[in-house]
Amino acid sequence: MLFGWQAVQRSGERASGARGPLPRVDPQGLPTPQAAERVERALAARTASYNGSMLAQRTLKSLTRAVGVGVHGGHRVELTLRPAPSDSGIVFRRVDLPQPVNIAVRSDSVCDTRMATALSPGGDPGAPKVNTVEHLLSACAGLGIDNLMIDITAEEVPILDGSAASFVFLLQSAGIELQDAPKRFLRMRRTIEVREGEGASLKWARLEPFDGYKLTFEIDFDHPAVNQTGQHVVFDMGSGQYKREIARARTFGFTRDVEMMRSRGLGLGGSLDNVVVVDDYKVLNSDGLRYGDEFAKHKILDAIGDLYVIGHPLIGAYSAFKSGHALNSKLVRAVLADPSCYDIVSFDDASTAPAGLADLAPAW
Ligand SMILES: [Zn+2]
Repeated sequence: MLFGWQAVQRSGERASGARGPLPRVDPQGLPTPQAAERVERALAARTASYNGSMLAQRTLKSLTRAVGVGVHGGHRVELTLRPAPSDSGIVFRRVDLPQPVNIAVRSDSVCDTRMATALSPGGDPGAPKVNTVEHLLSACAGLGIDNLMIDITAEEVPILDGSAASFVFLLQSAGIELQDAPKRFLRMRRTIEVREGEGASLKWARLEPFDGYKLTFEIDFDHPAVNQTGQHVVFDMGSGQYKREIARARTFGFTRDVEMMRSRGLGLGGSLDNVVVVDDYKVLNSDGLRYGDEFAKHKILDAIGDLYVIGHPLIGAYSAFKSGHALNSKLVRAVLADPSCYDIVSFDDASTAPAGLADLAPAW
């Protein structure tokens, strides 16, 4: 027993020895080649150091701030992301109200899914809310962050560059801290599927057992610009490529919908700086697309954020056809309504976790 304890202590020493200065990151969330190489080395050292040690929860090492506008309301908003204790989850805090209101990221807080995912205490549509949470939550899921307090000064998360890359940059700049509590995953035991519509309007989303976390998404836009791109994307979170492969995919919109949205008071903060805009024929952004399949990848980015309201990282396979925030939320509720379809699991020995899930991004 004593030998085992010493082994854990030594592996902890190696883990802290793997820490180094924060790598430089460009504004789109991508490290410079030299920094990327250093990150890979630190990642390999830390993954090796996990042998025999618990797979732990994560929060931030220090606080960080961002200022931007909400894509729908167009209001200026300031975010402050703070470290939070183990098992507290991710909590938004509306600090602009006379009495600050906490809004926990949980499935029963979802109050609106029409254009984006909005949360309010208890899901009450009349209560203070926070809208467009999915890109920030996607970044948290992609970096394996379990606990976070997010002070926000308006009812909408800033859109920044329209993707999750700016949030990845912010979170990594603050540094990621391992905590003294086991990370708890929701592991699917059997398949749950939700469907809507029939024929041409059919949509579905599914979560099923899988030893890892994999996402498959198919969009089906019959549009000259979108037809030229990949409409079917598979992404394995265990690959460690969230930041490179998914995080930079921007939200997109069609000019034909802009009038309708503006008449409903939506999309007021949208511009070519934060949305891929498509007219009847082509992409209007002068710098084109960031990925050949940026549209489908953004739908995966959104799904990762929408699924994170479960309150746990997932072990399972998500697949979807033309799903969106509403159907993703319906899937989450269907899973949580049936405890026989999942287990909550943790790993006393991180090396026994499904490949790649022990360390989605290096902790510094
Ligand atoms: Zn989105």
